[in-house]
Amino acid sequence: MDEGMKTYLRLCKRLGIRYVSSAPVSSPYDQEGSAGKTSPLAPVAEKEGPRMEPGASPPPAWLKGSLDTVQAMELAAFDRDICECQKCPLGKTRNNFVFGSGNPQAQVLFVGEAPGADEDAQGLPFVGRAGQLLTKIIESTQTWKREDVFICNVLKCRPPGNRTPLPEEVEQCRPYLEEQVQIIKPKLIMALGAVAAQAILGTKESVGKLRNRWHDYQGIPLRVTYHPAALLRFEGYKKDVWEDMKEFTRFYKEVTAT
Ligand code: URA
Repeated sequence: MDEGMKTYLRLCKRLGIRYVSSAPVSSPYDQEGSAGKTSPLAPVAEKEGPRMEPGASPPPAWLKGSLDTVQAMELAAFDRDICECQKCPLGKTRNNFVFGSGNPQAQVLFVGEAPGADEDAQGLPFVGRAGQLLTKIIESTQTWKREDVFICNVLKCRPPGNRTPLPEEVEQCRPYLEEQVQIIKPKLIMALGAVAAQAILGTKESVGKLRNRWHDYQGIPLRVTYHPAALLRFEGYKKDVWEDMKEFTRFYKEVTAT
């Protein structure tokens, strides 16, 4: 059995998923020399694939698509490991831990700041007004639907009153984003707004200074643009965001061209 299959089976076990092999099932009737005939008592071979064990937790609501890939299982297992996090005081004030959402095999990752009230209530990122605008921005490229990409935040819990994340909260949460990037292995990352860009890149430079060039995060090309919430407040950023998305899409097509 190769390493990939071993990982897959280990993750199936961890998530309470039963793996059913499609290996032929023999029946005593067949063994008595009646090949070709089917006994009404013969067990029916189950189709290969993962099955949830009764009592296993269902696939997470943030997952777009099937749980049946190593990346989906690794992400789901990682979410399960960290979703009760109490490393910082936001663990006490949140209603929901917001892991992220989308396709675990996404080639592009969008990273925002932190959940707001709507996200905290639903446990999903970018579902409020800024989120609806983000969906429009992503889909305006005519390259991705929202469910094709993965979206998450630097902080997984809502800061009370939507205040700016504190440096110590960013430090505590940063390893979670790093691990998500390790599992998803996107080809490109887009940082949305100053908080996300500064936290990821470890800089204090403004979005105005950080956009219009490529950065590197864990060996992955990263671009910076304005946060959709900033765009809702100031329409003047629209043209810049459009330019940033155009370059992001162009480079994506270049790096994925065969
Ligand atoms: N703003 C963010 O940065 N993230 C969200 O999930 C919602 C609003």
